[in-house]
Amino acid sequence: MNKPADIARADITRLSVGLGSRSYDIVIGPHLLEEIGARIASLRPGARVGIVTDAHVAERHLATVEASLKAAGLTSSAIVVAPGEGSKNFATFEHVIDELLGARIERRDLVLALGGGVIGDLSGFAAAALRRGVDFVQAPTSLLAQVDSSVGGKTGINSRHGKNLVGAFHQPILVLADTSVLDTLPLREFRSGYAEVAKYGLIDNAAFFAWLERKWKDVFAGGPARIEAIATSCAAKAAVVARDELETGDRALLNLGHTFGHALEAGAGFSQRLLHGEAVAIGMAQAFRFSAAQGLCSPDDAARVSVHLRAVGLPTRIADIPGELPDTDGLMRLIGQDKKVSRGALTFILARGIGQSFIARDVDPAAVRAFLDAERA
Ligand code: NAD
Repeated sequence: MNKPADIARADITRLSVGLGSRSYDIVIGPHLLEEIGARIASLRPGARVGIVTDAHVAERHLATVEASLKAAGLTSSAIVVAPGEGSKNFATFEHVIDELLGARIERRDLVLALGGGVIGDLSGFAAAALRRGVDFVQAPTSLLAQVDSSVGGKTGINSRHGKNLVGAFHQPILVLADTSVLDTLPLREFRSGYAEVAKYGLIDNAAFFAWLERKWKDVFAGGPARIEAIATSCAAKAAVVARDELETGDRALLNLGHTFGHALEAGAGFSQRLLHGEAVAIGMAQAFRFSAAQGLCSPDDAARVSVHLRAVGLPTRIADIPGELPDTDGLMRLIGQDKKVSRGALTFILARGIGQSFIARDVDPAAVRAFLDAERA
């Protein structure tokens, strides 16, 4: 077990992802980047650190991280890639690997992901592949990365065949979620991450969803409600990952909204037209509407999901996406390419109500097609 950094602070929350000898801490609180050097040094004294980040995050937060690493006696080099989903590709992956090798990051060294989910996925995969695997620390800087992508060890890149189709499970040794850095996150990106926060309520925690309905403005404003929302989300994710690290069972619940969502994201060309969390918001609203159409959940619950997502400013319908999208056949092809498909049968996360999601295998493709036709009408 990795020893937690010996830095006690009253304003931080520490959670643990229990994976035996590969267990790790998630540390959540303000101004953590300023002490990232000491926290990494206490886990891996003397390690060389290959920082992977994007240009937006580098401009705002890289100097703080470099200064902190230096103060803790750690040598670092930074690799700055272009912001956005487009960097989760083979060319950028090769570039990052080459730069890490050039920076002499060796087996006892580590890769530090400083950025949103794109940076975490890309650099985590690079850490998994570099010299057959080096240690990896996540310093997530977007809300989405803090509540979701930085925890659980899924790493990877996109292929022209679809999203996240090439990757590895590679757990970090530490996740450091500095909640102060969210102050520089654009509002649209914060909203996008909020979709994944709401997801934890919709999966199995109706009380958390009701709390979000009351408190979402405080979560957006910052302060204790924001930290509480992040910690509740991380605790939910950590528990699922500890139960089902490789997604052979109920980790699939975390894909609520993602089968429809990934198809829409691919249909919009993984572009600024539709951010990942926005696609998930539409996908969750659709999963509830589809569940209601199948008589599984009440239309009132489906409506409540959409009302809340719309209240925070998230899209809930295909018609909310600007520009052209594939037709129903095209969307069905994209759904068929999603990893949640096993030997032709469609697997969806559906719901019997808010906080009552379940894994539905063998969903009839004809019912999905009819639903999408109705949604597009
Ligand atoms: P992102 O990494 O592209 O970040 C969003 C934008 O915000 C970028 O422009 C980035 O530069 C900027 N940004 C990030 N932090 C900032 C800050 N503090 N201040 C100012 N700007 C900042 O996208 P994301 O929404 O963080 O993550 C989406 C990605 O995460 C997708 O590729 C998705 O597939 C992946 N994901 C992975 C998992 C997983 O388990 N591995 C889970 C969910 C999502």
